[in-house]
Amino acid sequence: MLPDIENLLRLQEADKQIRRLQDEIAELPKRVTAIEQKLAGTKAQLEKAQAAVKADDAAKRKHESTISDLRGKISKYRDQSLEVKTNEQYKALLHEIQFAEKEIAATEDKVLELMVNADARDKEVKAAQAELKAETAEIEREKEQARHRTAEDQKQLAEQRGKRDQLRANINEDLLRQYERVLKFRGSGISEVRDHKCVACQVMLRAQTYNDVRSGQQIVICDSCQRILYFNPAEELVEQKPTVTRPKRHHPKIDAPQAWYYRPEFGDAGEVFIVLTNNGAQSSRHVYDVHTGRLIGDILIREGDYRQAFPEDITGATRLNGAWDEEELEAWGTEAPMIVLDALQADLDLARHEMSARTSAKRETPAVTPTEQAAS
Ligand SMILES: [Zn+2]
Repeated sequence: MLPDIENLLRLQEADKQIRRLQDEIAELPKRVTAIEQKLAGTKAQLEKAQAAVKADDAAKRKHESTISDLRGKISKYRDQSLEVKTNEQYKALLHEIQFAEKEIAATEDKVLELMVNADARDKEVKAAQAELKAETAEIEREKEQARHRTAEDQKQLAEQRGKRDQLRANINEDLLRQYERVLKFRGSGISEVRDHKCVACQVMLRAQTYNDVRSGQQIVICDSCQRILYFNPAEELVEQKPTVTRPKRHHPKIDAPQAWYYRPEFGDAGEVFIVLTNNGAQSSRHVYDVHTGRLIGDILIREGDYRQAFPEDITGATRLNGAWDEEELEAWGTEAPMIVLDALQADLDLARHEMSARTSAKRETPAVTPTEQAAS
């Protein structure tokens, strides 16, 4: 990977962190404001409850003064009644006294009602005060946390900015301009290439462009989104890993002029590789020991196609991939080379893996195995 690309990737990370920190710093006061608004609501409720208590107190005092005035009047009427000359005058005063007494009784009821209400009002005030106290403590805690967080963010922000400046100083100017121009409009200025595509815009790259990015020798820009492209070999390895360990097995052709087989037992010899080859009107058979490659027995030649000529060797055997012509077989003499044995063994392992995968995937249906049936 080019050093400029490596620096751009680090720069992109620093830019991302800077954006995240700036957003977080901007978000914290909004949270505090929201709690403060709630607090203001509780404060208003408390003030309302306190104002109601005050109004009730004032009303009670007013009623008490009314009662006191009425009592004064009654006392005055009583004094006057001692000095009246006529019965009518006396009756009139008595009537005034009765009227004032009624009014006193009504006002006293009102005072009593206010006194009963005062208990409820008192409870309201106390509840609002308790709530305010809890909320105030809460907001202080939140504010403290926000302050702490902001300070921490500011510190990190300064670090990331320093890192960014340092990285910028080490990147080619034109490249940096390209990166920042695209970053401004698209939110990112550099994109990975995977599966022949620009990961950011998902547009397929031309073969030449892809190869240029892959080689990591030059700066390549996505034709479609203008981002600077880079290739991460580690990502490709991860993607290809399953196929590396288990490549898809080629299936041998039924009508091939030559066929390799594996048999777990062959007379007294144990595991063998058998190769059957058509040769005009005849066919031949070579048998090799799986482990040593030693040629076992004589080379058999029979009349006809090998399927007809050697059915007993084919039945129950595992068909393998392998193609070494007659000349090569002759050149091996009495021992197949190690490289051939390894290739056949690797193919046998794959065939076995394939077989077990199929049996586990299709347990309900009879597994199709690479084991051949005798030609009829
Ligand atoms: Zn693109």
